[in-house]
Amino acid sequence: MAPKKTVRPKESSRKKTDSDLFLLPKTFKRRIKECAQDKSSDDSHKVVFLWACVNESGLKQGIKGESDAERPLSREEWLTVVDEAASLGANWLVLSFCVPLSECGDMWDVCKWAQETHEMMVGLHIKSEKLLRKDVAVIMKTLDLDKTRLLAREGALSQARLREDEKKALIVWSANPQEDGERPNCQGPTRMIFVNSKGVLYTCGLVEGNKAYRMGHVFDAKLERIVTDPNLPHHVEDDLHYVTPECDGCPALIANYFFENQ
Ligand code: SF4
Repeated sequence: MAPKKTVRPKESSRKKTDSDLFLLPKTFKRRIKECAQDKSSDDSHKVVFLWACVNESGLKQGIKGESDAERPLSREEWLTVVDEAASLGANWLVLSFCVPLSECGDMWDVCKWAQETHEMMVGLHIKSEKLLRKDVAVIMKTLDLDKTRLLAREGALSQARLREDEKKALIVWSANPQEDGERPNCQGPTRMIFVNSKGVLYTCGLVEGNKAYRMGHVFDAKLERIVTDPNLPHHVEDDLHYVTPECDGCPALIANYFFENQ
């Protein structure tokens, strides 16, 4: 089935070269922000967090043998997801990296777009791989560090051997502030959009892959329709609601442990 949406009109501004991608006229940036603020004035469905997973194929178009709905999102499509989430009120983008950050080059454009166009905070969750020296160099060079947080389990940064100046510049938060097995002290998934690396939406990371909590694909409908559809699962049932490693990096959990984020 052909995707219902891939490229929206506003993406025409992104057809420019990489070098001018972020040199948008200030008025255009301001208008996007005003639209986001107008839309988010209705607090009942206000989204705060966009949490997305990235793997090694995350930004490569099409994988042979897979249908459109299963293929990973392109950079343009990720940017559109960020735009839509921002228009719903999201002010945090958390990316959970299952592979070294250096293998996900195009994601830097997505992070920069979120920070510069929507003034979003960006969390880089180092999920399973170690953070490498070359990753640190790219983060330091590319992102607005005031709007960047590294989320990592203890020990995940040891290979990066951060220098003193890097330790001062990079703010690191625990990716797992709560013990596994406890009831999550989280804000719940109702104000969060969770997208896996193939663009499939689930209620939250805890239930990724569980069909009962599949909310659709970002190609299926506008995010606003998905987050406001009362027939979709916006809560996790009590019998599953315990902290597991799948909660690592969850912004709805981390927000309750870092005061500046509340
Ligand atoms: S992933 Fe875990 S911490 Fe996050 S909303 Fe779901 S249950 Fe709560």
